[in-house]
Amino acid sequence: MNKLEGKIALVTGGTSGIGLATAKRFVAEGAYVFITGRRQTELDAAVEAIGKNVTGVQSDVSNLADLSRLFATIKQEQGHLDVVFANAGIGEIAPLGKITEEHFDKTFNINVKGLLFTVQKALPLLPEGASIILNASITSVKGTPAFSVYSATKAAVRSFARNWTLDLKERKIRINAISPGVVPTPGYDHLGLSDEQLQEFVDSQASTIPLGRVGTPDEIAKAVVFLACDDSSFVNGIELFVDGGMAQI
Ligand code: NAD
Repeated sequence: MNKLEGKIALVTGGTSGIGLATAKRFVAEGAYVFITGRRQTELDAAVEAIGKNVTGVQSDVSNLADLSRLFATIKQEQGHLDVVFANAGIGEIAPLGKITEEHFDKTFNINVKGLLFTVQKALPLLPEGASIILNASITSVKGTPAFSVYSATKAAVRSFARNWTLDLKERKIRINAISPGVVPTPGYDHLGLSDEQLQEFVDSQASTIPLGRVGTPDEIAKAVVFLACDDSSFVNGIELFVDGGMAQI
């Protein structure tokens, strides 16, 4: 029996990496999925890769008008939403001393403001029993050189999950954060590292992970399916680390 049979789901940033892997898993488990991304070409390619039961809506999570249009489309096409995976996010490197206002605003606008208004604008479409999953990161609880602004956005995301369980309790909507560890995706291309530096980074990270390797987007997707479906019916307000043990030691 499929875990998400007949469910309607949204994955923001569903064109690449963890979002794309999750959208594929959602569809494989019987859901109809809306994915978003900023660029139409990438969106079209992702819709084709997912293959069926998917609609792509071009939208930027940090743009509230785009979000309103997204939820108007979902309402018109399906009437409601059972699962929201607020996944869209970016991470760029800037050590303290080199942090610019632009870096701060861009990172917080996408990772915090965009995620907040994604969830808030989804609320009218969510029935009792819906599940919201926020993509945080192990950086919510760990320090990383030159990654403080990103890490602060993820600590904020974790805090949202804790607080919103209370705001949503009357409606019996569950909300949880998922915190991936090191999972190479196209997102790593924006770290500003050469191919060689990136490989060195991945290898150095793997040596600090108890399982001895980095993760894959599909390993995160499987955990998101767990939080989305009835298997996690009594799981609420948590931060689920999917990190090979990296942040647990
Ligand atoms: P990715 O770059 O492969 O995917 C990010 C997705 O978000 C893309 O579809 C991109 O188009 C979309 N996106 C970015 N800005 C957007 C915006 N303003 N509006 C709409 N869509 C936007 O990266 P990923 O590694 O798959 O990251 C997905 C999420 O996972 C992020 O929130 C990231 O912080 C989080 N995360 C990733 C890792 C990792 O190691 N990959 C670890 C912890 C957390």
